[in-house]
Amino acid sequence: MDTSQNQRLEQICQDAMCSACGLCESLFGPARVQMAITPEGDLRPVIKPGVALGAEEMDRLERLCPGQRLEALPAAFASPDGQDDLIWGHYEAMQMGWASDPQVRHRGATGGVLTALALYLLESGEVDFILHAKASSQQPSFGERQVSRNSEQVIEGAGSRYAPTAILVDVLELLDLDRPFAVVGKPCDLSAINNLAREDPRVDRLIRARLAPVCGGYMPPEGQARFIQQDLGLDPARITAMRYRGYGCPGPTRIELDDGQVVEASYSDFWGQDESQWVLPFRCKVCADGIGEAGDIAAADTWPGGSPDPNDTSYDPGTNALIIRSQRGRALVQRASAAGYLSLGETLGPRDLDGFQPHQRNKKLAVGSRYAGLAAEGKRHPATQDLRLDALTEAMGPAEAQRQTEGTRQRVGVGKASEPLPRAVAWFKRP
Ligand SMILES: Cc1cc2nc3c(=O)[nH]c(=O)nc-3n(C[C@H](O)[C@H](O)[C@H](O)COP(=O)(O)OP(=O)(O)OC[C@H]3O[C@@H](n4cnc5c(N)ncnc54)[C@H](O)[C@@H]3O)c2cc1C
Ligand code: SF4
Ligand code: SF4
Repeated sequence: MDTSQNQRLEQICQDAMCSACGLCESLFGPARVQMAITPEGDLRPVIKPGVALGAEEMDRLERLCPGQRLEALPAAFASPDGQDDLIWGHYEAMQMGWASDPQVRHRGATGGVLTALALYLLESGEVDFILHAKASSQQPSFGERQVSRNSEQVIEGAGSRYAPTAILVDVLELLDLDRPFAVVGKPCDLSAINNLAREDPRVDRLIRARLAPVCGGYMPPEGQARFIQQDLGLDPARITAMRYRGYGCPGPTRIELDDGQVVEASYSDFWGQDESQWVLPFRCKVCADGIGEAGDIAAADTWPGGSPDPNDTSYDPGTNALIIRSQRGRALVQRASAAGYLSLGETLGPRDLDGFQPHQRNKKLAVGSRYAGLAAEGKRHPATQDLRLDALTEAMGPAEAQRQTEGTRQRVGVGKASEPLPRAVAWFKRP
């Protein structure tokens, strides 16, 4: 048996470019490739014993995997009135917003905008179901894909999962249903959808909206272990449920234990107060689209400076910044607002977003020179389309670009851009 092609999938993971979207499980089928919990505690696609992947199917995977290719939503989705910003990309409008239903606003990670839009799409009958995420029943700290066919299920998925969350494990089977649906996923998940759309016309016909949280990355196993074991002194094996955000903005990080005990910590306790020390997957540190250029609408936090004030204990109901990127997204916001699902506030501009998201702005400027560092060390990075990386590098200036490139080369040198061959400690079962 010739298993030489298998290495092409494994190498995406070993070069630390897998964001655990789950698409390859859907492409190959779980009998051949399945998402698995690895010895390192991460979630990765693992090839089943005795399986030899073919060259053509590997070519396809490399065209579709968001660790290989990232693309903004195609220009055909834009209107002639849209604007373009070097940092924030194409947008039709930027606006404050929140879910009109106070309970949805309370449950949502920020202001519940993504949940409100999903509820509108479902309850109006525009779509049959929502593909998004919820807490995993198998591994309480993880997320898992949720297919919501009623409002309760949509609300169950509200909140951010700051952990591996493979929402695309059966996306091809969902397309096979030949019914309209909407996707709420991280920008890298939506990039995978956009990549698939180039080859599968059902994507543009059936997926009526692509909605994203603006995303700085999730917390990898070593960060979770530091928080759960070192900071809180808890045994991870005793955790039965974990919630990161929601029930206020940001709301408490809440852990339930097997004896019924509940432990709560703050957002700042979870992430740490010094943003430069946040533990993130390497893939997320070199992400060229954390700002959701792949989606019709991206929804962000609106804390000045990028983080909540850890000393402010007053209740914040949550207000999102909406980055509306397509004609279709603009029309959806209008319909959801007219139908009473969404409340809209002041109009925003790109420099407001810089103020709410300084970490996204800085990463967007730096990512092209980080890619240069990866390339110089013979490491892969995703090919990009319409993400302006050369112009961003130029805008950052040569000295900082050089510093970013060198910093990345050093990180490669100490193994930060390498992962072990993915192996399965436990198969991650589909919900
Ligand atoms: C990993 C991660 C990193 C983030 N980083 C930033 C950041 O840097 N800056 C910023 O402004 N905001 C960030 N957010 C987004 C922020 O937490 C809110 O999700 C966003 O403002 C939308 O708020 P909302 O109230 O509209 O969301 P909600 O109404 O609570 O809806 C959230 C939706 O996202 C889906 N979802 C949650 N987690 C995941 C996941 N891991 N994978 C796929 N789908 C998921 C849920 O199922 C739900 O449908 C991040 C979110 C995530 C998941
Ligand atoms: S990013 Fe997605 S498609 Fe690519 S290897 Fe990881 S799980 Fe598979
Ligand atoms: S930072 Fe980028 S790669 Fe990481 S989870 Fe977010 S969108 Fe995906």
